[in-house]
Amino acid sequence: MASDIQHCVQTLRLKVKREGYAWLNAAAIEVNQVWNFSNAASYKAARPFSGQPRWLSAFDLDKLTAGATECFDHIGSDTIQRVNAEFATRRRQFKKAKLRWRVSQGPKRSLGWIPFKAVQLKRNGKSLRFAGKALRVFERALLEGAVWKSGCFAQDSVGDWWLCLPVAQQVVLSVAPQEVVGLDLGLRETVATSDGDKLEAGHFYRSIEGKIAAAQRRAHQRQAKRLHRTAARRRKDALHKFSRKIVNQYQTIKIGDVSSLKLAKTRMAKSVLDAGWGMLKAQLQYKGQQAGRCVLIVDERNTTRTCSSCWALTGPTGLDMLVVKTWVCSACGVTHDRNVNAGRNIRSAGRCPPSVCGNELPLIVAPPSQTSSRCEAGTSALKAAA
Ligand SMILES: [Zn+2]
Repeated sequence: MASDIQHCVQTLRLKVKREGYAWLNAAAIEVNQVWNFSNAASYKAARPFSGQPRWLSAFDLDKLTAGATECFDHIGSDTIQRVNAEFATRRRQFKKAKLRWRVSQGPKRSLGWIPFKAVQLKRNGKSLRFAGKALRVFERALLEGAVWKSGCFAQDSVGDWWLCLPVAQQVVLSVAPQEVVGLDLGLRETVATSDGDKLEAGHFYRSIEGKIAAAQRRAHQRQAKRLHRTAARRRKDALHKFSRKIVNQYQTIKIGDVSSLKLAKTRMAKSVLDAGWGMLKAQLQYKGQQAGRCVLIVDERNTTRTCSSCWALTGPTGLDMLVVKTWVCSACGVTHDRNVNAGRNIRSAGRCPPSVCGNELPLIVAPPSQTSSRCEAGTSALKAAA
Protein backbone atom coordinates (compact mmCIF):
# COMPACT_ATOMS: atom_id res chain seq x y z
CA MET A 1 0.00 0.00 0.00
CA ALA A 2 1.77 3.11 -1.19
CA SER A 3 0.90 6.39 0.44
CA ASP A 4 2.10 9.82 -0.53
CA ILE A 5 1.67 13.41 0.66
CA GLN A 6 0.34 16.03 -1.70
CA HIS A 7 -0.51 19.71 -1.28
CA CYS A 8 -3.89 21.05 -2.20
CA VAL A 9 -5.69 24.34 -1.71
CA GLN A 10 -8.81 24.41 0.43
CA THR A 11 -10.93 27.45 1.12
CA LEU A 12 -11.61 28.29 4.75
CA ARG A 13 -14.97 29.98 5.17
CA LEU A 14 -15.37 31.77 8.51
CA LYS A 15 -18.36 33.82 9.60
CA VAL A 16 -17.59 37.40 10.57
CA LYS A 17 -19.02 38.62 13.87
CA ARG A 18 -21.97 40.95 13.54
CA GLU A 19 -20.28 44.11 14.88
CA GLY A 20 -18.20 44.32 11.66
CA TYR A 21 -21.17 44.22 9.26
CA ALA A 22 -21.79 48.00 9.04
CA TRP A 23 -18.15 48.67 8.18
CA LEU A 24 -18.06 45.85 5.61
CA ASN A 25 -21.30 47.06 4.00
CA ALA A 26 -19.81 50.54 3.58
CA ALA A 27 -16.56 49.10 2.19
CA ALA A 28 -18.52 46.94 -0.28
CA ILE A 29 -20.13 50.08 -1.76
CA GLU A 30 -16.65 51.51 -2.37
CA VAL A 31 -15.59 48.27 -4.08
CA ASN A 32 -18.67 48.59 -6.32
CA GLN A 33 -17.61 52.14 -7.21
CA VAL A 34 -14.12 50.96 -8.24
CA TRP A 35 -15.58 48.10 -10.28
CA ASN A 36 -18.04 50.37 -12.06
CA PHE A 37 -15.30 52.95 -12.79
CA SER A 38 -13.12 50.20 -14.33
CA ASN A 39 -16.11 48.94 -16.30
CA ALA A 40 -16.92 52.38 -17.69
CA ALA A 41 -13.27 53.28 -18.43
CA SER A 42 -12.46 50.05 -20.23
CA TYR A 43 -15.71 50.18 -22.23
CA LYS A 44 -14.88 53.69 -23.37
CA ALA A 45 -11.37 52.57 -24.36
CA ALA A 46 -12.70 49.52 -26.24
CA ARG A 47 -15.34 51.55 -28.17
CA PRO A 48 -13.89 55.07 -28.53
CA PHE A 49 -15.65 57.82 -30.55
CA SER A 50 -12.45 58.19 -32.58
CA GLY A 51 -8.99 56.66 -32.74
CA GLN A 52 -7.77 53.16 -32.09
CA PRO A 53 -9.77 50.93 -29.70
CA ARG A 54 -7.77 49.61 -26.74
CA TRP A 55 -8.34 46.61 -24.50
CA LEU A 56 -7.26 47.80 -21.05
CA SER A 57 -5.34 45.35 -18.86
CA ALA A 58 -5.34 45.23 -15.06
CA PHE A 59 -2.07 47.17 -15.18
CA ASP A 60 -3.65 49.99 -17.22
CA LEU A 61 -6.60 50.13 -14.83
CA ASP A 62 -4.21 50.31 -11.85
CA LYS A 63 -2.61 53.39 -13.42
CA LEU A 64 -6.02 54.98 -14.02
CA THR A 65 -7.13 54.38 -10.42
CA ALA A 66 -3.82 55.46 -8.83
CA GLY A 67 -4.43 57.83 -5.93
CA ALA A 68 -8.13 56.92 -5.68
CA THR A 69 -7.71 55.85 -2.04
CA GLU A 70 -8.00 59.53 -1.06
CA CYS A 71 -11.67 59.42 -2.07
CA PHE A 72 -12.39 56.30 -0.01
CA ASP A 73 -12.72 55.94 3.78
CA HIS A 74 -12.54 52.15 4.02
CA ILE A 75 -10.64 50.34 1.29
CA GLY A 76 -6.96 50.76 0.40
CA SER A 77 -4.93 50.62 -2.83
CA ASP A 78 -4.33 46.85 -2.48
CA THR A 79 -8.06 46.17 -2.61
CA ILE A 80 -8.46 48.52 -5.58
CA GLN A 81 -5.75 46.63 -7.45
CA ARG A 82 -7.37 43.28 -6.62
CA VAL A 83 -10.72 44.57 -7.93
CA ASN A 84 -9.02 45.71 -11.16
CA ALA A 85 -7.27 42.35 -11.56
CA GLU A 86 -10.53 40.46 -11.03
CA PHE A 87 -12.35 42.75 -13.47
CA ALA A 88 -9.70 42.24 -16.16
CA THR A 89 -9.78 38.44 -15.67
CA ARG A 90 -13.57 38.23 -15.94
CA ARG A 91 -13.62 40.50 -18.96
CA ARG A 92 -11.09 38.30 -20.73
CA GLN A 93 -12.99 35.18 -19.66
CA PHE A 94 -16.37 36.34 -21.01
CA LYS A 95 -14.84 38.19 -24.01
CA LYS A 96 -17.07 41.21 -23.45
CA ALA A 97 -16.34 44.91 -23.83
CA LYS A 98 -18.59 45.67 -20.87
CA LEU A 99 -19.52 43.56 -17.85
CA ARG A 100 -22.53 43.99 -15.56
CA TRP A 101 -22.56 46.90 -13.17
CA ARG A 102 -22.27 46.21 -9.47
CA VAL A 103 -25.41 47.65 -7.87
CA SER A 104 -25.21 49.08 -4.33
CA GLN A 105 -28.88 49.85 -3.59
CA GLY A 106 -32.36 48.50 -4.20
CA PRO A 107 -33.78 45.02 -4.85
CA LYS A 108 -31.17 44.17 -7.55
CA ARG A 109 -28.31 44.91 -5.16
CA SER A 110 -25.13 42.90 -5.78
CA LEU A 111 -24.01 40.74 -2.87
CA GLY A 112 -21.13 42.43 -1.08
CA TRP A 113 -17.58 41.44 -2.05
CA ILE A 114 -14.27 42.85 -0.81
CA PRO A 115 -11.10 41.19 -2.16
CA PHE A 116 -7.69 41.75 -0.55
CA LYS A 117 -4.03 40.74 -0.68
CA ALA A 118 -2.22 38.77 2.02
CA VAL A 119 -0.48 41.76 3.58
CA GLN A 120 -3.77 43.55 4.26
CA LEU A 121 -5.19 40.93 6.62
CA LYS A 122 -3.14 40.50 9.79
CA ARG A 123 -3.63 38.65 13.03
CA ASN A 124 -4.02 41.01 15.97
CA GLY A 125 -4.53 39.16 19.24
CA LYS A 126 -8.07 37.79 19.28
CA SER A 127 -9.15 39.73 16.22
CA LEU A 128 -8.01 40.27 12.64
CA ARG A 129 -6.87 43.63 11.34
CA PHE A 130 -8.04 44.61 7.87
CA ALA A 131 -7.45 48.11 6.40
CA GLY A 132 -7.29 49.71 9.84
CA LYS A 133 -10.43 47.98 11.12
CA ALA A 134 -10.47 45.21 13.75
CA LEU A 135 -12.77 42.36 12.71
CA ARG A 136 -13.57 39.24 14.68
CA VAL A 137 -14.55 35.87 13.20
CA PHE A 138 -16.12 32.70 14.56
CA GLU A 139 -14.01 29.51 14.71
CA ARG A 140 -10.82 31.56 14.96
CA ALA A 141 -8.86 28.42 15.92
CA LEU A 142 -8.98 27.27 12.27
CA LEU A 143 -6.65 30.14 11.37
CA GLU A 144 -3.87 28.79 13.62
CA GLY A 145 -0.78 28.20 11.50
CA ALA A 146 -2.62 28.96 8.25
CA VAL A 147 -0.77 30.88 5.52
CA TRP A 148 -2.81 32.78 2.94
CA LYS A 149 -1.86 34.65 -0.20
CA SER A 150 -5.10 36.49 -0.87
CA GLY A 151 -8.76 36.16 -0.06
CA CYS A 152 -12.00 38.04 0.19
CA PHE A 153 -14.91 39.02 2.39
CA ALA A 154 -18.16 37.87 0.79
CA GLN A 155 -21.79 38.40 1.69
CA ASP A 156 -24.54 35.79 1.32
CA SER A 157 -28.17 36.40 0.39
CA VAL A 158 -29.26 36.62 4.03
CA GLY A 159 -26.81 39.50 4.52
CA ASP A 160 -24.20 37.71 6.64
CA TRP A 161 -20.53 38.28 5.91
CA TRP A 162 -17.96 35.49 5.48
CA LEU A 163 -14.19 35.56 5.35
CA CYS A 164 -12.98 33.29 2.53
CA LEU A 165 -9.32 32.30 2.63
CA PRO A 166 -7.70 29.81 0.22
CA VAL A 167 -5.18 27.94 2.37
CA ALA A 168 -2.64 25.30 1.29
CA GLN A 169 -3.14 22.01 3.11
CA GLN A 170 -1.51 18.61 3.08
CA VAL A 171 -3.47 15.56 2.01
CA VAL A 172 -2.34 11.97 2.10
CA LEU A 173 -2.67 9.98 -1.12
CA SER A 174 -3.83 6.47 -0.38
CA VAL A 175 -5.20 3.40 -2.10
CA ALA A 176 -8.85 2.63 -1.45
CA PRO A 177 -9.88 -0.79 -0.08
CA GLN A 178 -12.32 -1.56 -2.93
CA GLU A 179 -11.83 -1.42 -6.69
CA VAL A 180 -14.77 -0.12 -8.76
CA VAL A 181 -18.17 1.39 -8.07
CA GLY A 182 -20.93 2.56 -10.42
CA LEU A 183 -23.25 5.38 -9.36
CA ASP A 184 -26.74 5.78 -10.80
CA LEU A 185 -28.25 9.22 -10.37
CA GLY A 186 -31.99 9.24 -9.80
CA LEU A 187 -34.82 11.30 -8.42
CA ARG A 188 -36.32 9.10 -5.69
CA GLU A 189 -32.85 8.17 -4.50
CA THR A 190 -30.32 10.85 -5.40
CA VAL A 191 -27.72 8.13 -5.91
CA ALA A 192 -27.71 4.35 -5.83
CA THR A 193 -24.36 2.53 -5.87
CA SER A 194 -23.73 -0.80 -7.54
CA ASP A 195 -23.24 -2.33 -4.07
CA GLY A 196 -26.77 -1.40 -3.01
CA ASP A 197 -25.92 1.68 -0.94
CA LYS A 198 -28.38 4.55 -1.39
CA LEU A 199 -28.61 8.24 -0.62
CA GLU A 200 -32.28 9.12 -0.25
CA ALA A 201 -33.30 12.33 -1.96
CA GLY A 202 -33.84 14.38 1.17
CA HIS A 203 -36.42 16.71 -0.31
CA PHE A 204 -34.48 19.38 1.48
CA TYR A 205 -36.43 22.13 -0.20
CA ARG A 206 -39.86 20.45 -0.29
CA SER A 207 -39.87 19.70 3.44
CA ILE A 208 -39.73 23.39 4.34
CA GLU A 209 -41.54 24.70 1.26
CA GLY A 210 -44.67 25.40 3.35
CA LYS A 211 -42.69 27.39 5.88
CA ILE A 212 -41.07 29.44 3.10
CA ALA A 213 -44.46 30.18 1.52
CA ALA A 214 -45.87 31.23 4.91
CA ALA A 215 -42.93 33.55 5.55
CA GLN A 216 -43.38 35.12 2.12
CA ARG A 217 -47.12 35.64 2.67
CA ARG A 218 -46.33 37.50 5.86
CA ALA A 219 -43.69 39.51 3.94
CA HIS A 220 -40.92 38.15 6.16
CA GLN A 221 -38.33 38.26 3.38
CA ARG A 222 -35.38 37.75 5.67
CA GLN A 223 -36.93 34.69 7.29
CA ALA A 224 -37.68 33.21 3.84
CA LYS A 225 -34.10 33.72 2.73
CA ARG A 226 -32.88 32.11 5.94
CA LEU A 227 -35.05 29.02 5.24
CA HIS A 228 -33.69 28.79 1.69
CA ARG A 229 -30.20 28.86 3.13
CA THR A 230 -31.11 26.10 5.60
CA ALA A 231 -32.32 23.88 2.76
CA ALA A 232 -29.15 24.51 0.76
CA ARG A 233 -26.95 23.70 3.74
CA ARG A 234 -28.78 20.44 4.55
CA ARG A 235 -28.41 19.31 0.95
CA LYS A 236 -24.73 20.22 0.85
CA ASP A 237 -24.06 18.40 4.12
CA ALA A 238 -25.73 15.17 2.97
CA LEU A 239 -23.86 15.23 -0.35
CA HIS A 240 -20.50 15.95 1.32
CA LYS A 241 -20.92 13.01 3.69
CA PHE A 242 -21.92 10.67 0.86
CA SER A 243 -19.13 11.71 -1.52
CA ARG A 244 -16.54 11.41 1.25
CA LYS A 245 -17.72 7.87 2.01
CA ILE A 246 -17.52 6.85 -1.68
CA VAL A 247 -14.06 8.39 -2.17
CA ASN A 248 -12.69 6.69 0.95
CA GLN A 249 -14.06 3.34 -0.11
CA TYR A 250 -13.47 2.96 -3.86
CA GLN A 251 -10.50 3.42 -6.19
CA THR A 252 -12.40 3.87 -9.47
CA ILE A 253 -15.69 5.77 -9.44
CA LYS A 254 -17.99 5.70 -12.47
CA ILE A 255 -20.94 8.07 -12.85
CA GLY A 256 -23.68 8.09 -15.49
CA ASP A 257 -23.64 11.10 -17.82
CA VAL A 258 -27.08 12.53 -16.93
CA SER A 259 -27.15 16.18 -17.87
CA SER A 260 -28.70 18.01 -14.93
CA LEU A 261 -28.59 21.25 -16.93
CA LYS A 262 -30.87 19.76 -19.61
CA LEU A 263 -33.24 18.05 -17.18
CA ALA A 264 -33.55 21.23 -15.11
CA LYS A 265 -35.47 22.74 -18.04
CA THR A 266 -38.19 20.07 -17.92
CA ARG A 267 -41.13 19.67 -15.53
CA MET A 268 -38.96 17.60 -13.22
CA ALA A 269 -36.78 20.66 -12.59
CA LYS A 270 -37.52 21.04 -8.88
CA SER A 271 -36.71 17.42 -8.08
CA VAL A 272 -33.57 17.54 -10.23
CA LEU A 273 -32.25 20.68 -8.59
CA ASP A 274 -33.19 19.37 -5.14
CA ALA A 275 -31.29 16.15 -5.81
CA GLY A 276 -28.07 18.12 -6.39
CA TRP A 277 -26.44 15.87 -9.02
CA GLY A 278 -24.18 18.60 -10.31
CA MET A 279 -22.88 19.32 -6.82
CA LEU A 280 -22.28 15.63 -6.13
CA LYS A 281 -20.37 15.16 -9.39
CA ALA A 282 -18.18 18.18 -8.67
CA GLN A 283 -17.46 16.95 -5.13
CA LEU A 284 -16.53 13.47 -6.33
CA GLN A 285 -14.25 15.01 -8.96
CA TYR A 286 -12.25 17.21 -6.61
CA LYS A 287 -12.20 14.85 -3.64
CA GLY A 288 -11.21 12.02 -5.95
CA GLN A 289 -8.42 14.07 -7.44
CA GLN A 290 -7.07 14.97 -4.01
CA ALA A 291 -7.07 11.35 -2.87
CA GLY A 292 -5.67 9.94 -6.13
CA ARG A 293 -8.86 8.23 -7.35
CA CYS A 294 -10.14 7.71 -10.87
CA VAL A 295 -13.46 9.45 -11.53
CA LEU A 296 -15.12 8.58 -14.86
CA ILE A 297 -18.24 9.82 -16.61
CA VAL A 298 -19.71 6.95 -18.64
CA ASP A 299 -22.54 6.65 -21.16
CA GLU A 300 -25.65 5.61 -19.27
CA ARG A 301 -27.85 4.64 -22.24
CA ASN A 302 -29.84 1.42 -21.58
CA THR A 303 -28.42 1.04 -18.06
CA THR A 304 -31.94 0.83 -16.58
CA ARG A 305 -33.20 -1.63 -19.22
CA THR A 306 -30.26 -4.02 -19.21
CA CYS A 307 -30.29 -6.91 -16.76
CA SER A 308 -26.97 -6.83 -14.92
CA SER A 309 -26.89 -10.65 -14.58
CA CYS A 310 -27.63 -11.84 -18.12
CA TRP A 311 -27.32 -8.63 -20.21
CA ALA A 312 -30.80 -8.98 -21.78
CA LEU A 313 -32.80 -5.80 -22.42
CA THR A 314 -35.73 -6.87 -20.23
CA GLY A 315 -35.96 -3.95 -17.77
CA PRO A 316 -38.55 -1.19 -17.52
CA THR A 317 -38.42 1.51 -20.17
CA GLY A 318 -40.15 4.78 -21.03
CA LEU A 319 -41.73 7.53 -18.93
CA ASP A 320 -44.71 5.35 -17.86
CA MET A 321 -42.38 2.87 -16.21
CA LEU A 322 -40.64 5.45 -14.00
CA VAL A 323 -42.76 4.22 -11.06
CA VAL A 324 -41.30 0.69 -11.27
CA LYS A 325 -38.91 0.20 -8.35
CA THR A 326 -38.14 -3.53 -8.57
CA TRP A 327 -38.55 -5.90 -11.51
CA VAL A 328 -37.86 -9.52 -12.41
CA CYS A 329 -35.79 -10.34 -15.49
CA SER A 330 -37.87 -12.45 -17.88
CA ALA A 331 -34.75 -14.07 -19.35
CA CYS A 332 -32.93 -15.24 -16.21
CA GLY A 333 -35.45 -14.68 -13.40
CA VAL A 334 -33.28 -12.50 -11.17
CA THR A 335 -35.10 -9.81 -9.14
CA HIS A 336 -33.51 -6.37 -9.52
CA ASP A 337 -33.79 -3.07 -7.67
CA ARG A 338 -34.14 -0.58 -10.52
CA ASN A 339 -31.43 1.88 -9.45
CA VAL A 340 -28.95 -0.62 -8.01
CA ASN A 341 -29.19 -2.60 -11.28
CA ALA A 342 -28.44 0.61 -13.22
CA GLY A 343 -25.50 1.26 -10.91
CA ARG A 344 -24.12 -2.23 -11.64
CA ASN A 345 -24.41 -1.64 -15.39
CA ILE A 346 -22.60 1.68 -15.02
CA ARG A 347 -19.87 -0.11 -13.05
CA SER A 348 -19.30 -2.58 -15.89
CA ALA A 349 -19.48 0.10 -18.59
CA GLY A 350 -15.69 -0.01 -18.98
CA ARG A 351 -15.55 -0.64 -22.72
CA CYS A 352 -17.96 2.09 -23.75
CA PRO A 353 -16.11 5.29 -24.68
CA PRO A 354 -16.47 7.86 -21.91
CA SER A 355 -19.28 10.23 -22.78
CA VAL A 356 -18.46 13.83 -23.62
CA CYS A 357 -21.83 15.35 -22.75
CA GLY A 358 -21.69 14.82 -18.97
CA ASN A 359 -22.27 18.23 -17.46
CA GLU A 360 -19.13 19.91 -18.72
CA LEU A 361 -16.75 18.21 -16.31
CA PRO A 362 -13.14 17.41 -17.18
CA LEU A 363 -12.42 13.78 -17.99
CA ILE A 364 -9.84 11.70 -16.21
CA VAL A 365 -8.97 8.58 -18.19
CA ALA A 366 -9.01 5.37 -16.21
CA PRO A 367 -6.25 2.80 -16.51
CA PRO A 368 -7.51 -0.58 -17.78
CA SER A 369 -8.64 -2.70 -14.86
CA GLN A 370 -10.67 -5.82 -14.11
CA THR A 371 -13.72 -4.13 -15.60
CA SER A 372 -12.97 -4.98 -19.24
CA SER A 373 -12.55 -8.66 -18.45
CA ARG A 374 -15.86 -8.58 -16.54
CA CYS A 375 -17.54 -7.13 -19.62
CA GLU A 376 -16.03 -9.82 -21.86
CA ALA A 377 -17.24 -12.53 -19.50
CA GLY A 378 -20.71 -10.98 -19.56
CA THR A 379 -20.97 -10.95 -23.35
CA SER A 380 -19.64 -14.49 -23.76
CA ALA A 381 -22.27 -15.68 -21.26
CA LEU A 382 -24.87 -13.87 -23.34
CA LYS A 383 -23.64 -15.59 -26.53
CA ALA A 384 -23.73 -18.97 -24.80
CA ALA A 385 -27.32 -18.32 -23.69
CA ALA A 386 -28.29 -17.36 -27.27
ZN1 LIG B 1 -31.52 -11.35 -16.66
